Amino acid sequence: MKTRPRHRPADEIQDLQFFGEFGGVNPSISDSATYTFLRASTMTDTFAGETEGCYLYSRHSHPSGRYLATALARVENTPSALVTASGMGAITSTLLHHLSAGDHLVSARTVYGGTYAFMKNFLPKLGIRTTFVDITKPEKVEAAVEPNTKLIYTETVSNPLLEVADIPALAAVARKHRIPLVVDNTFTPLIFTPAELGADIVIHSLTKFINGMNDLVAGCVCGSRELIEGMLNVNDGAAMLLGPVLDSIRAAEILKNLHTLPVRMAKHSANAMYLAREMEKRGIPVRYPGLPSHPQHELFKRMMNPEFGFGGMLTLDLQTADKAARFMEELQAENVGYLAVSLGYFKTLFNAPGKGTSSEIPEEEQARMGLSDGLIRMSVGLDFDITRTLDKILRVYERVQSPEPV
Ligand code: PLP
Repeated sequence: MKTRPRHRPADEIQDLQFFGEFGGVNPSISDSATYTFLRASTMTDTFAGETEGCYLYSRHSHPSGRYLATALARVENTPSALVTASGMGAITSTLLHHLSAGDHLVSARTVYGGTYAFMKNFLPKLGIRTTFVDITKPEKVEAAVEPNTKLIYTETVSNPLLEVADIPALAAVARKHRIPLVVDNTFTPLIFTPAELGADIVIHSLTKFINGMNDLVAGCVCGSRELIEGMLNVNDGAAMLLGPVLDSIRAAEILKNLHTLPVRMAKHSANAMYLAREMEKRGIPVRYPGLPSHPQHELFKRMMNPEFGFGGMLTLDLQTADKAARFMEELQAENVGYLAVSLGYFKTLFNAPGKGTSSEIPEEEQARMGLSDGLIRMSVGLDFDITRTLDKILRVYERVQSPEPV
């Protein structure tokens, strides 16, 4: 079990130093799809992946993507990383890199709806099966492993139920069966370093907290050099052949935003903690991993890098879809935030995932996992004065709880 962090992700970000071509404080953006070589033999070697610092073609890699990937590998403490055009591009290419017809994987049942839909509806077309399990019970994960199971997949903190995965326990199951543990750390960048806890592959949707501006879509895969080189292999690498390449300009933008991530994560967490505590005090059904009432609060504490808090995500249960709809519309009217999907923005975002981002999950399955129609997921923003935000939320909550005028 982890006692203190060996690796300090905020220091890794602070210490990044990539200069531009003319001494610029930011690295130059590579604006080319293809690259020239002085010697034909160097081109041949680059094709074989044997020349450091040479670029061939931007679907394979480009300098702006490399800078960002290097930075993310340092943050996640993995030997290497690659960046993709979306979080789904990272997830699908990682899964397709590891799985072939006849294979099987074990996944958490509460994962992002797109991930769930890919596993449930798309992978069977390729002859690949998924068993979905309650990830908070590692013994169920172990029981679901079959002889042809090729990987275990989870999110650190699940979307949208905020269940916390016991990464060291899952890593032990994965190691025992000699299969990789793949962890989507989108909800908790910096808060958890899954590779230090035993994960083999760490994925992010950079669209969310890491970029933090809701102006683009991107993803990354962090792991061993062998994995990243394999995924970029020109002959059979899933990232190379499926082509989810991140544009250079977008990669450069994300790298700049990464520099403020430690400050943003600490503030998202502090604001969410304040709201969750105050709402719970008033008897509002709130779920937040920073509250002792959260079923995996102690587990979260054992795994976390404490300087970043418990994250910016909380849920509220308004019991019915109607009340949830009214609550969100009124919150938006009060300018508490926006009724929108996605998360990790400077403004608070809220939606009801049962009928939205998790609608790919069948209703009976949603009921089994405790995902009610009235559940609201809130990504708490960077509000400077969060007490004012709380007042507005409490006012709206009271209005929604009182019977509608007839
Ligand atoms: N993983 C998680 C936890 C997500 O919430 C999302 C999107 O909401 C994704 C992956 C997919 O990322 P993207 O939308 O960047 O493709």
